[in-house]
This record gives sequence, C-alpha cells and structure tokens, in this order.
Amino acid sequence: MSAARDSTVRVGLVYPELLGTYGDRGNAVVLVQRLRWRGLDAELVEVTAGAPIPDSLDVYLFGGGEDDPQVMASAGMRASRAAIDRARAGGAAVLAVCAGFQLIGHSYEAADGTMIDGLGLVDAVTRAGPNRLIGELVVDPDPPLPVLTGFENHGGRTTLGRLERPLGRVVARNGSRGEPEGLLGERLIGTYMHGPVLPRNPALADHILAWVVGDLAPLDSTREEQLRATQLHAGSARGVRRWWQERVLARG
Ligand code: GLN
Repeated sequence: MSAARDSTVRVGLVYPELLGTYGDRGNAVVLVQRLRWRGLDAELVEVTAGAPIPDSLDVYLFGGGEDDPQVMASAGMRASRAAIDRARAGGAAVLAVCAGFQLIGHSYEAADGTMIDGLGLVDAVTRAGPNRLIGELVVDPDPPLPVLTGFENHGGRTTLGRLERPLGRVVARNGSRGEPEGLLGERLIGTYMHGPVLPRNPALADHILAWVVGDLAPLDSTREEQLRATQLHAGSARGVRRWWQERVLARG
C-alpha cells in the first residue's frame, strides 16, 4: 500500500463535480465495496474541486467531463502533480476515464483550438476528431482479462507515444473495430470506457485492486457478470450492425 500507513485502502475520487460524467463515481463505489466484501478496510475519499490532491491516496480516479470542466480540472491536477508523483512512486494506482484519460497525457486540443495541458503521466496527446464517438464499446484487453464493456461519448482522439501500450483493441464500436483503445501503464489504466466501467467489468476492478493490496480472495460476481453479459451482447450486436451498415453504405 502506498502513502496511507494504516491498513485502510483510500480510494480517491478526484474532482467529482468536474470529472463525473456518466456515473464515473460508480468506479470508486465498486472499488471500496469489493474490498469491504473481502473484509478489508476501505474508504472513499472525495477530493473536491479546488482542493489540493493529497499524496495519501492508494487509488486515484479521474473521471470524464465536458470540455469546460476539463479545463478547470486540468489546472488543479497540474498544481498537484508532485503529490500524485509521490503517491505513484509509493505504489498508488490510477484509473483515468475519458477526459481524465486525456488529462493524464500531455495535452488535449479541443474542437475550438483551445489547448489544455495535461499531467504528462503518460506519453499521449489528444486532439478533437471530426465527430463524436457515442455508444457502446467492446474491448478485447491486452492483460489477461475477459472482454470489457463500456459506453463512450467523446470528441477527442488519443494518440499514444511509441513506447506506450494500449489497454486493448476495439471489438465493436459504432462503425469501426480493430483500433487500439486506452492505455495500460504501470499500475495505471486510461480508457474511454464509461458505463461506469468497473461495475460493468468486475475483473478489471479486481485487477486494479490487486495492484494495491496484492492477491485477492475470490468473490461471487454472478450479478455483475450478468450485467456484463447483457452489455456485451448489446454492444457487440449494435457495433457489428453499424460496422456492416457503414461498409455497405460506403460501397454505395
Ligand atoms: N471533453 C472530452 C471529449 O469530448 C471528454 C468527454 C468525456 O469525458 N466524456 O473528448
């Protein structure tokens, strides 16, 4: 465990008022609950916008947000960069979703040309694309994890540096497949998957928790797996249908 010297795992929800679209708070709730179900002490720590981000958290959750709140969040995140670095050096984990993912990279160039500087924790840059990507997303992950399901809604397209590794490959998305998704770093995940992503993908939640507390006792995740199966089915069917339609339409 990182900076928290007692045995309580501190799950940090960073700026939920700014970075909290599509229920990303649920990621924090799931991490805390999956620890408590295993008899481990866990605490959800909210870092309200404007407050310095402490170095005492074991998990840092950066959620999604529209462009304006993202500008506000980026200033506070950059001001707390040293604390985040200390925590990471001590073993803390990071999950960054959508705007949060963009902000752990070097920069985000919005559609109106506004440049937002990120933390530069990872070698990635984001630029607004020609359209928004909206809908269910199915991802085949690189680490030994089952296929992931999420929901995305963003205009930005993130390009990883040569040495960075994606979280996985897109299996189904509105109209495309095969491209890399997200980023997998050392005790760090960046992704465009809302949903929120951890309630939908309990194995991913446990993957992150194992970085912080080590081996985890198994949990009965039957209900979570039912949700995952439903969403995977919806995402795959819709994504494949759109992909096929767009191919046919593209051929004219
Ligand atoms: N503002 C960013 C974009 O549109 C992120 C959106 C989000 O977090 N859902 O790319």
